[in-house]
Amino acid sequence: MSENLNPKQIAQSQLLKVRPFVEIPEKIFLKLWEPERILKVRFAITIDNNSEALFLGYRSQHCSWIGPLKGGVRYHADVTEDEVVALSMWMTWKCAVMELPYGGGKGGVTFSRDPMLVTPERIEFLKDYFPKKMSRHVLENITRKFTEKIAPLIGPDKDIPAPDVNTDSQIMAWMMDEFSRGVGYTVPAVVTGKPIVLGGSLGRNEATARGTFITAIKALKYTKLLGEEKTVAIQGFGNAGSIAARLFHEAGFKVIAISDSKGGVVNSNGLNPRELEAIKAETGSVINYKDGERLSNEELLTLPCLVLVPAALENVITTKNADDIKAKVVAEAANGPTTPEADEILHANGVFVVPDILANAGGVTVSYYEWIQGREQDYWDENSVNMRLEARMKRAFDKVIAEYEKNTVNMRTAAYIHAVKRVVSAGKLRR
Ligand code: NAD
Repeated sequence: MSENLNPKQIAQSQLLKVRPFVEIPEKIFLKLWEPERILKVRFAITIDNNSEALFLGYRSQHCSWIGPLKGGVRYHADVTEDEVVALSMWMTWKCAVMELPYGGGKGGVTFSRDPMLVTPERIEFLKDYFPKKMSRHVLENITRKFTEKIAPLIGPDKDIPAPDVNTDSQIMAWMMDEFSRGVGYTVPAVVTGKPIVLGGSLGRNEATARGTFITAIKALKYTKLLGEEKTVAIQGFGNAGSIAARLFHEAGFKVIAISDSKGGVVNSNGLNPRELEAIKAETGSVINYKDGERLSNEELLTLPCLVLVPAALENVITTKNADDIKAKVVAEAANGPTTPEADEILHANGVFVVPDILANAGGVTVSYYEWIQGREQDYWDENSVNMRLEARMKRAFDKVIAEYEKNTVNMRTAAYIHAVKRVVSAGKLRR
């Protein structure tokens, strides 16, 4: 039987796995199985070649028992309703792992592939065009339309979007502006990951990668591997991947391989992340870097190294390659990079996984700090943000380790046990 790669069913199977370890009343369990609410929207946009295209957007709200919903918005050709639902479930657990007063939400935008509407050639064109080759003007139109359509669901006390794949601080600024126009006054706390001048937090841009780095070091200390040759391979060179590369490099690691959607480069003597950033900015991809050999995304994952950081998309470590993973620690900056079956293989092979809901929780943690700062109109210096983040990441790591040792499960199930306990106890108290 082929491996199930449906992200929603993967997220549900992860919840199922926790059941023997956490007392969950049936009604509470059933409610956690599906999102509380999901909104699907459509809008037609004139794109850069002057044709009209139909876009679809989603906002999934998984569980609001602990507080308002929180989670990013993704722009990607492969966005589906099930993916957005899975990502919102993972956000519920991530916020709970970090003990943040939020539930999980997530949004995504893609274009319609309805075969009655678009030809295979048109799909190929749109896949290449959306969103990376779009002009700023069209990107802004998409963002404003999507925000207008989901406006009834979002707000500082309801649901607070943030950046994710292919969305950044400029897109958050447009979202904030469009929402504010709708209500008639400026509402900075409706999104996080904003530009600093509009109420963004210092340290937010680096927070996801910083959290991944902090938990990877904790993992190396816990497994007593810190004395080994410090090498790291990173898949994905966007917000999470490029900043993780910088942080590992600054800490004395050899960054031996880096990739983006076009492929990667490898150099066993180490790559310089700053130079790769410059090449990517100049040419659009890290593959044009000269001081290294080309390799594929698949090859990168199985390189011998101390730490592997998947920082791109879901389902990259599967039954097909899990046995070939040679890294000793996998720190999941991406959401959902490892399938449940691959998880079992890594665990059996002694690979220590820092699961996504812990490893990439730095982003939502500093989003929480941004939300607090915005509401109090009192802004913290970067050092203070980073120190709070570090303390919180370390505390969450230790709490997950406590469940890991108590229950002899893998690290993902341990993180789920910690998170699900918290959400279930909130659910029991409320209804
Ligand atoms: P981004 O858009 O800034 O970067 C994504 C990177 O992945 C790019 O370098 C892109 O080229 C690469 N990529 C895309 N498809 C690929 C493929 N098929 N193979 C290899 N590389 C590919 O996005 P990001 O914000 O860095 O997000 C990356 C991951 O981190 C996602 O899973 C996201 O959900 C997760 N994450 C991000 C944040 C955040 O604050 N940005 C927080 C938590 C988790």
